[in-house]
This record gives sequence, C-alpha cells and structure tokens, in this order.
Amino acid sequence: MKTNILNLVNPCIFDVNPYQPGKNLNECKREYGLTHFVKLASNENPLGPSPNVMQAIHDAISQIADYPDSHCYELRKALSEHYQLAFDQFIIGNGSEEILKMLLETFVMSGQEVIFGQYAFMAYDILAKSVGASIKKIPMPNWTLDLDQVLGAITPKTKMILLANPNNPTGTYIPEKEFRSFMQRVPSNVLVISDEAYYEYVQKADYPQTHSWLDQFPNLVITRTFSKAYGMAGMRVGYAMAHEDLVAIVNRIRQPFNVNHLAQVAALAAIKDQAFLQYSVEMNNKHREGLVQGLAELGIPYIPSQANFVMLHVKTDGMVLYENLLRMGVIIRPLKFFQLNHYVRVSVGLEEENKCFLNALNQALPKEQVA
Ligand code: PMP
Repeated sequence: MKTNILNLVNPCIFDVNPYQPGKNLNECKREYGLTHFVKLASNENPLGPSPNVMQAIHDAISQIADYPDSHCYELRKALSEHYQLAFDQFIIGNGSEEILKMLLETFVMSGQEVIFGQYAFMAYDILAKSVGASIKKIPMPNWTLDLDQVLGAITPKTKMILLANPNNPTGTYIPEKEFRSFMQRVPSNVLVISDEAYYEYVQKADYPQTHSWLDQFPNLVITRTFSKAYGMAGMRVGYAMAHEDLVAIVNRIRQPFNVNHLAQVAALAAIKDQAFLQYSVEMNNKHREGLVQGLAELGIPYIPSQANFVMLHVKTDGMVLYENLLRMGVIIRPLKFFQLNHYVRVSVGLEEENKCFLNALNQALPKEQVA
C-alpha cells in the first residue's frame, strides 16, 4: 500500500505560507534577459561590508577544513565588550531569523499565543505557524503599533510578543518612553522579543537602547544582525542579547555549528570597524533623504522611515508596478502579503541606484499619479 506523504505531515505546517524572498539578481537576469539590475528589494547595504571584513575572510579561507568554534568565543567576547554585557548573555545565530526560530521552538507550544503587528516582518507569521502557535495580529492603522492594544490582547495563553523596532516594512519605530512603560506592564511570564535588525540606522534621540534594560526585564530578548548596516547579509550572522538563563536554555537546541567559521571571522572584523559602520549609516541616511525628496517631487506619498528602506503609496496596483519595474531592470518589493496592494517597499541604494529607481518609477506610473 502506498503512503500518502501528506498524511504524515505535522498539521500546523499546512498553515504556513512559504516566505517569498526578494528576487535575486541571477534569477532576474535569467527571467528578464537583462544584464544589469538595480536591486532594492531586500534591505541590504549597497556599500557591502568593511574592507577589513573582506580581508579577514580572505585570511581565514585556509582554515575551513575544521569545524567552526561552536561557542563563537571571539565574537561573543567582542560583543560583550562592545555592549558591556556578560559573555553568557549572547546567542549567535545563522542570521537573526534563526534566533527567532530558536526562541519560538524553545518557548512556544502548539496552541499558545504569539502576538505581533498587522504589518510586522513577514517571517513572524511563518515562524509562529510552524510551531503551531495561535497568532494574534494587532491592527496598525497609523503604521505603528499601539502598545496599549498589544497589552489588551494578552491572555493567559499568550507566550510571546514580537516587536520589530524599527518595523519592516513600515520603517516606523517605538520610542523609549512608550516601550519602557509597556515593559513595566507586560506580565513577566510573557516574553517580549525586540527585533532590532535595523538598530544601527536609527538616529532618533528617543529610540530605546534596550540592551541597557536587560537587568530590569528578564523576559526581554533583543535580536540584532550583521545583515543590514554591517553589510553582511550573505554571511548570515545575527545575535540575541538576553538574561543568562534564557540564553542557556535556548543554546540547548542550537545546532552546534550553526555559524560557520568565515561568518564568525567576518562578524568579528565588522564589529571592530565602527568607523566603517558609521560611514555606512551616514551614507544610508543621506541617500534616504535624497530618495524621499525624489518621491516628494514626483508627488508620491511615503511613510517616514528610520531604516534603510521606505514604504510608498502608489495609486496603481503594486504587483503591476513591481513587474513593470522589473522589466526596466529595477527590483523592489510589492507588499501583497499584507494586502497592501497599493504600497511597495524600496531599499535605500547608492545615489545612482536611487536615481535609476526614481526614473523608472516616473515612467512606470500612470501619468495622472505623478505630480
Ligand atoms: N528582522 C527584521 C525586521 C528583518 O527585516 C530581517 C531581514 N529582512 C530580519 C529580522 C532577519 O535578518 P537576518 O536573518 O538576516 O539577520
């Protein structure tokens, strides 16, 4: 008798809609027959990493025959010095997304509730569904989360709250006062994950420095990454900061060699080159300004962003615009996943790339939309 494989599947997996990453360059070249594309779809740093990172990878190539350091000793030591936190407060992951996955697997049982915003990072939905969590999405009518509403949604079944700060795709942020007051009121048996993938970009004085709160809130976990401002998305290194007890328990399910040797070496060189990080952040913020000015000149509304991307409102269908821009060699991100059919997200590129996008946008949009 033949077995139908689908009968064997953990039923919660049927609820998962697979993540659709931004198209990669080779895929676009193959599909559209163009040799050059401007990729503004996945919030990478267009400057790439520090030259010191390249050199460190180059120097470490000969060491890849051995397994990497399972404890990521050098990197955790450097991070603990950087943040003035204990070595045992760090978990290193194959990107911060792997850490989110480990947190869900460690703490959330099937049927327990996970809360996040209506327009939160797409991966939350997939990660939470894959552990069978019951998901509560909080409306974000002004593109930001009302934390009182989040508190109001907590029930005895709530296990975890995922907050992206700044949020992707809106680019909005939660100010310090609001966040702290929220932390003071959240029941201590509910974990709060502050996903700060875009932390380094934020220049606002009232943006919370949550890593200094860990002593007060043992239910707080902060995740950050080397994928964005450090320009190393392809190396896959992210980290979490939390109470030592939480780190120890999550480490039980971590794959022993989850972060490869070149990635560890690269992240270590990256954290040591704060001058390059500063330069990247300045460049992003300057070019983001140029980008939104260009949008304003075209009469296209956008949401002010603290990160390295901007969400904009187009009167045409976002999927159609996306396809038309692809034909012109520009890759952006439609937001159909959120039923935001008239919105798209564009990453901040280099000056030339942003110009290219604005020109293509001007051509692709129906004339009545452009001021
Ligand atoms: N959180 C947010 C809000 C993100 O936008 C991303 C990447 N797009 C991630 C987490 C995951 O980043 P990584 O796994 O590369 O660290």
